[in-house]
Amino acid sequence: MRRSKFIFVTGGVTSSLGKGIVASSLGNLFQSRGYNTTILKLDPYLNVDPGTLNPYEHGECYVTEDGAETDLDLGHYERFLNIPTSQLNNVTTGSIYQTVIRRERRGDFLGKTVQIIPHITDEIKNRILLLESKKKFQIIIVEIGGTVGDIESLPYIEALRQFKFERKNDVAVIHLTLLPFLSSTGEVKTKPTQHSVKTMLQSGVQPDIIVCRTEKKISKNVKNKIALFCNIEYDAVIESVNAETIYEVPLLMLEQNLDTVVAKKLGFKKINKINNIVWKRRLNRLKKSSKEITIGIIGKYVELKDSYKSIYESLIHASASLAKGLSIKWIHSETINKKNISNQLIGCNGVIIAPGFGGRGIEGKIIAVKYIRENKIPFLGICLGMQVAVIEFFRNVCKKKGAHSTEMNPNTSYPVIDLMKNQINIANKGGTMRLGSYQCKLKKDSIVFSAYKHTYIKERHRHRYELNNKYKSDLVLNGMDITGYNEDLNLVEIIELKNHPWFVGVQFHPEYQSSFITPHPLFVSFVRAL
Ligand code: GLN
Repeated sequence: MRRSKFIFVTGGVTSSLGKGIVASSLGNLFQSRGYNTTILKLDPYLNVDPGTLNPYEHGECYVTEDGAETDLDLGHYERFLNIPTSQLNNVTTGSIYQTVIRRERRGDFLGKTVQIIPHITDEIKNRILLLESKKKFQIIIVEIGGTVGDIESLPYIEALRQFKFERKNDVAVIHLTLLPFLSSTGEVKTKPTQHSVKTMLQSGVQPDIIVCRTEKKISKNVKNKIALFCNIEYDAVIESVNAETIYEVPLLMLEQNLDTVVAKKLGFKKINKINNIVWKRRLNRLKKSSKEITIGIIGKYVELKDSYKSIYESLIHASASLAKGLSIKWIHSETINKKNISNQLIGCNGVIIAPGFGGRGIEGKIIAVKYIRENKIPFLGICLGMQVAVIEFFRNVCKKKGAHSTEMNPNTSYPVIDLMKNQINIANKGGTMRLGSYQCKLKKDSIVFSAYKHTYIKERHRHRYELNNKYKSDLVLNGMDITGYNEDLNLVEIIELKNHPWFVGVQFHPEYQSSFITPHPLFVSFVRAL
C-alpha cells in the first residue's frame, strides 16, 4: 500500500484563530502542486456528531454527500479543495467513545481494562489511518479542534505523540498561535506562544512549524525569538497576517513558503511545480468586483453569522465569478412584522430565507415572503425557506387560512408541509433526518433548468418535513410551479413562481456544493438576476 504523508494542525493561545482556513489553504497549495490531498477534522466534544447541536454553539452543521452531519470546517475543506469530503473526514470524541464502548460490550477486549490509553488513542489513530487505507490520499491534513491545554483535547495530542513516533518520517506538526499586539508598548508579544509550545512539549509533542496569527507584520527579531524559545528553525516560523478575504490565505501562505517548509519536514526530495492560475484569476475578480449588490439573509440565528457560513460563502463564490461586489444585510426573523417589513428589506436587491428548525421567528419569515412575492423581489428559499414560501402561498394566494407545517402546528387544518412518511416512527434525533445526496429531476421550462442545464441533478439534504402531495394541485392551479422532483420518493424538491422575475424554493441545500473555483449554478443564477 502506498503510504500517505500526514500534517497535523494544532491551535494554541486562543480558539477561533482560523485553523480550518490554514489547514484548507495548505491543502489547496498541495493540491495545486498535483498532490491528492484531503483534510480530517478531529473534534474534542462528546456529541457523536454536530447534528444535534444548536447553531449558536458551533455555527452551521455541514452535510457531506454520503449524509454525515459534520463540523463547518469541512465546508471550508470542500470550498478550498473543490473535492467532496465524506463521513471519514470528521471524527468526534463522542464517536470514538461510542465505538470503543460498543466493542467493550461485544467483549472484544477479552477481559482487559478499557482505558483512554491505549484504547481511545488507538481508535483515534485508526480513524486517521482509515483515510490512508480506504481513500489513498498522498497528503492527509489532520486538524485537531480546540486549544492545546484543554482537558478534552489531551487524548488527541497523546494520539498525535504516538502517531509521530510510529510514523516518524511521514508526519509534520504545525502549531497555530496568536501573537497579541500591545498598543501601550507598540510590541508584538511572543510569550503566549512560548507557553503554548511548552504545553505541547509537556505532552511530548514538538511542533515543526509555527504559524503566527498577527495583526502587524513581524520583525526578524520576533521570528528569531520564537525560533529560539520554541526549538523551531527560523524558516519554519510563518507569519499569518489578517487577510482581506479568506481566499487570499493560500497565496499569503505560499509567499511565506509554508508548503515547501512542510514538504521538507516530510522528507520530500523535491516538490512539484504549482499551478494556481485559476485561483489567482478568481481572487483578482473578487477583489476588483464593481457593481454593489445587497442580499438580505433572513434567519433566526443571524447573531452568529457562522450559522449560515455555507450560504454566505456560496454568495461570495457566485458574486466573485460575476465580478459583482456583495454586501449582506442580516435580518433577524423574530424582528419582522407587517409594519416594518418594507423598511427591513430596504436596499435589498434579493433575499434568501435560510434553513431552520422549529417555530421561533416563523411568522416573520411568512410576512417577509408575502412582501417579496408581491413586490417581485428575487428570492431564494432554502429548505425551511422553501417550506415557508409554500405556506405563505397557500395561506394568501390559495386562501387557506391557518395553513402551516405540522412541525410548527401539528393541528393545522391545512398541513401543506408535513412529516415524511419514513420519519413517523423515528424517536432518536441524532443522524435520522433525510440526509445527504439525492437525485432530482428538473422541469425543462424553468429557472432551475436554465441554471443547471441538466435534467438530473444531485443535491444534499437535511430535513424531516416535505411538501404534502395532497395540496400539489391547488398550488399549481394557483400559479406555483413544481420544477424539481424526486421520482423515487415522489417528493417535491423545487418550487418556482410564475409571474415573478426570480422566485425559487429548494428543499435541498445547494450551499453545501459550492466552491471558490466552481460556484454553484443556482447561486450564480440568483446573483445574476440582481
Ligand atoms: N425543519 C424543516 C424540516 O425538517 C427544515 C429543515 C431545514 O431547513 N434544514 O424539514
